Amino acid sequence: MQVISSAFEQLGLIPPLVATVAELGYSKPTPVQEQAIPLVLSGRDLMAGAQTGTGKTAAFALPILQRLAPFASPSASPARHPVRALVLTPTRELAVQVAESFRDYGAKLPLRSTVIYGGVDMNAQIDQLRKGVEVVVATPGRLLDHVQNKTVMFNQLSVLVLDEADRMLDMGFLPDIKRIIALLPRERQNLLFSATFPDEIRTLAKTLLRNPAEVQVAARNAAADLVTHVMHPVAREKKRELLSYLIQTRGLRQVLVFTGTRIGANRLAHQLRRDHIHADAIHGDKSQGEREVALADFKSGKTTVLVATDVASRGLDIEGLPQVINFDVPHSPEDYVHRIGRTGRAGMTGEAISLVSPQDHDAVAAIERLIKKRIERVLIPNFGPSGPSVATMMGDQPSHKDRERRRSRSSGPKRQVDPIFSKPYEPAAPAATPIPAANQEAPQAKRKRPQLAALLGGLKKAS
Ligand code: AMP
Repeated sequence: MQVISSAFEQLGLIPPLVATVAELGYSKPTPVQEQAIPLVLSGRDLMAGAQTGTGKTAAFALPILQRLAPFASPSASPARHPVRALVLTPTRELAVQVAESFRDYGAKLPLRSTVIYGGVDMNAQIDQLRKGVEVVVATPGRLLDHVQNKTVMFNQLSVLVLDEADRMLDMGFLPDIKRIIALLPRERQNLLFSATFPDEIRTLAKTLLRNPAEVQVAARNAAADLVTHVMHPVAREKKRELLSYLIQTRGLRQVLVFTGTRIGANRLAHQLRRDHIHADAIHGDKSQGEREVALADFKSGKTTVLVATDVASRGLDIEGLPQVINFDVPHSPEDYVHRIGRTGRAGMTGEAISLVSPQDHDAVAAIERLIKKRIERVLIPNFGPSGPSVATMMGDQPSHKDRERRRSRSSGPKRQVDPIFSKPYEPAAPAATPIPAANQEAPQAKRKRPQLAALLGGLKKAS
């Protein structure tokens, strides 16, 4: 009888990697893995449109590990373990997740990896770097600190990955990224992963990538098709009350709510708790430990509502939620796409609810332009804004019947097409490496704020 080789083997992966993914329970590659793995193995540059949750980490980590495998050395000598691959990520949470993936996927190869991020003491990181590591996963700011300290060298580097490139841009990392790229050998493979492709990313890609292959697993700048979008026009001062009303009357059990500010996130979680709703907040002012607890409680269902800022939610493995609610409408339409990307995953239907007040008019128009569809407005009796602003906001107000139809649709059984990501709520095992309390400091995003502000004012659009 002929032995049927695994789908991962057919992509060209070597036996130790095929065995590892089988042990991890991956039965078949995800679409981004199917497309990207052979391209990365061939040594080509790559520009990939894929969000967290699509399996993109394995799409670059597996072929990178394979390309580095011939250099793997059992020797303890640091000289035998120069940095050969660098992955830059926007947040330390994502850096930790990516580094864990490299460790898991590379378990059967004698290659070393480490993670470098800000907000913690540098000495442990220096020790790791001194011992020698082939793969470094880092946030840009802290990596530059190590460059300055001369504790990291890139002369043997052959692969660079920019993960969540659009997020790095949003967070003001572009100057840091350019500085890092200038330190790398010219001959190298470049891989760029991004959920969206604003002009600045296309410009960066043009200067960074050489004859890149392109892979797109979600339509460019398009919101997931399985997501139902709805906007509830509401007087600004009634937003919080409406949120509690929706959660309670619809019996919502696991909702990610976005606010524009950290203070807003804290205040909202507090007010929801006063309404007897289990709510917690996750944002940049919380320590790593606090964020991990909040996330684990949310995934396990202990917390009903997690109120998050955009920065805090980035790169976290909390996709596949039934509902995402925009308490504050995002100023950038790309953030809307990112936020709603947390729902409607892998064949599951999802719902993106936005509470819009008259002040959000321009932001709503920008979102509708980007996603190329008009979002249904549904007025909840007693919560709408008063005066002429209602008419402007409503446009084609659906009838009560329409509302009922929509509601029964969204609360009906979920259609499941692809089982790959059907268990997104279980806490990732093992949880991200806990950081000792003494080392908990302000997050990277906080440190970068002045720079971000300067950059947002100064970024030129690509011509
Ligand atoms: P990522 O988009 O890289 O953050 O991956 C999202 C999740 O999907 C992670 O928890 C991975 O362990 C998991 N995953 C990645 N590839 C596969 C696969 N081929 N089969 C099943 N799960 C996968």
